[in-house]
Amino acid sequence: MKTNNLGYPRIGSNRELKKASELYWAGQLSAEDLLAVGKNIRKENWQLQAESGIDLIPSNDFSFYDQVLDLTLTLGAIPERYNDFARTNSSIDLYFAMARGSQKNGQDVVAMEMTKWFDTNYHYIVPEFTKNQKFTLFSEKVINEFKEANDLGIATKPVLIGPISYLLLGKEKEEGFHRIDLIEALLPVYFEIFEKLEAEKATYIQLDEPFLALNLTDKERNVFTKVYTEINNRFPNIKIILANYFDCFGENLATALALPVDTLHLDLVRCPLQLDDILESNQLSPNVNLSLGLVDGRNIWKNDFKNSLAIIEKATKALGESRILIAPSCSLIHSPCDLELETNNQTLTPEIKQWLAFAKQKIQEVVLLKQFASKEIDTETSIRFAENALANENRKTSKLIHNESVKNRVASITSGDDQRKNTFAIRRKKQIEALNLPLFPTTTIGSFPQTPEVRSWRAKFKKGELTQQQYDDLIKKETEDTIRFQEETGIDVLVHGEFERNDMVEYFGEQLAGFTFTKNGWVQSYGSRCVKPPVIYGDVSRPKPMTVKWSEYAQSLTPKWVKGMLTGPVTILQWSFVRNDQPRSQTCTQIALAIRDEVVDLENAGIKIIQIDEPAIREGLPLRKEEWATYLDWAVKAFRISASGVKDDTQIHTHMCYSEFNDIIQNIADMDADVITIECSRSQMELLDAFADFKYPNEIGPGVYDIHSPRVPSSQEMVKLLEKASAVIPVDQLWVNPDCGLKTRHWDETKKALIEMVAAAQEMRAAVENPVS
Ligand code: GLN
Ligand code: ZN
Repeated sequence: MKTNNLGYPRIGSNRELKKASELYWAGQLSAEDLLAVGKNIRKENWQLQAESGIDLIPSNDFSFYDQVLDLTLTLGAIPERYNDFARTNSSIDLYFAMARGSQKNGQDVVAMEMTKWFDTNYHYIVPEFTKNQKFTLFSEKVINEFKEANDLGIATKPVLIGPISYLLLGKEKEEGFHRIDLIEALLPVYFEIFEKLEAEKATYIQLDEPFLALNLTDKERNVFTKVYTEINNRFPNIKIILANYFDCFGENLATALALPVDTLHLDLVRCPLQLDDILESNQLSPNVNLSLGLVDGRNIWKNDFKNSLAIIEKATKALGESRILIAPSCSLIHSPCDLELETNNQTLTPEIKQWLAFAKQKIQEVVLLKQFASKEIDTETSIRFAENALANENRKTSKLIHNESVKNRVASITSGDDQRKNTFAIRRKKQIEALNLPLFPTTTIGSFPQTPEVRSWRAKFKKGELTQQQYDDLIKKETEDTIRFQEETGIDVLVHGEFERNDMVEYFGEQLAGFTFTKNGWVQSYGSRCVKPPVIYGDVSRPKPMTVKWSEYAQSLTPKWVKGMLTGPVTILQWSFVRNDQPRSQTCTQIALAIRDEVVDLENAGIKIIQIDEPAIREGLPLRKEEWATYLDWAVKAFRISASGVKDDTQIHTHMCYSEFNDIIQNIADMDADVITIECSRSQMELLDAFADFKYPNEIGPGVYDIHSPRVPSSQEMVKLLEKASAVIPVDQLWVNPDCGLKTRHWDETKKALIEMVAAAQEMRAAVENPVS
């Protein structure tokens, strides 16, 4: 029996990588120093895993931005528009330009598209393919990192996204082909990599093919068979670990079981019954080993050893110990780094803390499970086993978790609770009258730049260096400046700027009962951006209003409308670590009721426009289509419960970003928000087609510029996008806004961009008023 790890967090246990990258981008750190930070993180991760007793330690799981972008560079699939930039810049700058866009030295390049990694909150950079796409070995990162570990005396298992998933993760940039047809062109580069790794004496290679958990076409399934057979024929001595995760194989199971690989990795957290299916099917070839993904890589709860051992025992009985590997369910990049760094007993009380395990602890769990299962038991391991049993027992019965009045309120929800009083058509008339907005109303998505200064106030307040009064005064001043800026710029619907918030989910988590939070539980979201998901450990309720004070204050400063700003129940659920002792739908409904109370309180405080952000609704979609309807049903209902407590003339907005909406457009319409703002600019309004074809009935603000890039777009660019939008959406339904919140931007570029945006809206209005026939 072996222990196997699929990937380790690369941000560093104190977010060293984030800090270094951002300094580098700001010109305050040399490339050399940045590379050194990366190297040190890799070393620490490898050593930690080696010392803990992991047999198959991953390499090439490190990345400066994103592992898909790494592979795009490795395979030389660099879009043409970067050619000039590539000639005159270092490869690390090219890499970051592809990820973030760049206006360095007047070379204006836009970033590649970014989208969510399966059903996680991790975002990857979408590969772009042309019909005659060429692939060449452009970067030897995977080989270099393998050598780097070897030099430290640690033999690793290089990790790559498998060729089929890599193609499927990408996007065709011209008509007339399907990206899967590029497989013939792509494979030789993989082979070249395998040859080089073999020459360096790599024994194992992990190929991640998470598309095996999705609904595939027959053709795609056949490509799997063909590709893995060919790999096996050419490299009979390399042990391929084929990793599937996030869901079951479903109808791909027979295909997967027949692949000539060394090891098949299963996610037994997401698909607990898979092992039984496989063992009963008798289709697993006697040459294939199983890696049992038992330790949850996506959540923070301690593994239940008793449970896991029963599963391992079942597997070893059927296959023999030598064919079993013990592993986390997926890469640990979705877990925070180290529970030992959580030293705040006030928030993470010892009772709650004993229920948890982060990446470092999960590695230990994997090793302990293997030791128990293979009867390598000493006093230390028996103590650990007893501790685990005790913690899990304590969690089941803890008084911290259960709140009868919350359970009763959920049980007494009636059918009217998820309905606005009237239809959109009726509400719309009343809202037009009440709000008196121009055509192409301009707004933003909520946050304004979270400058180091703003963040330092929060840090000082938390440390007690600022009193509540002093902190509030600073935030008030920043809010007022932001209101003034928006007024001067001529924005129609203002926001307060969200300066009092650290993060759009954590802020609410901190104020809701049933939530707690960590000090250092960071998880990478995209690039240098990390999130610190709250922990939902018990029944959720709202002890008191959460945002009313700030919205009310902002509204008091201006005669213009200020939008109230809330995070929706599905997004709060999706971006938290959710308790796993009751269905997610139940937890989501509890949150929806809490948000509903907040919406009603905002309305009572005189706020006429309230935005309930649901950027995560799409990513919560199960990977397998069979399970979509059930999820969408409760998720849409939760949003409606949160939004339906208000009068007709209160306008409810929602916001979504970085997702493909085509498949769920009906459900988005069913959410019945009066206005939806969505991200559209990176895909040049392509996303809007779904809304146009469907004839989306309510109002819509397609984002007109990309806020993830420091690049300032011109009003002309935005006019072009708006013209595209108005060709497919009636102009009186259109709003004008950036594609997401502005908190990651600097003030300078934010101001410039919003001035351009308002100019674009004015030009559109003028064109409607004086049409050139
Ligand atoms: N209101 C949030 C903000 O502007 C929305 C962020 C998001 O969509 N992720 O920051
Ligand atoms: Zn957004």
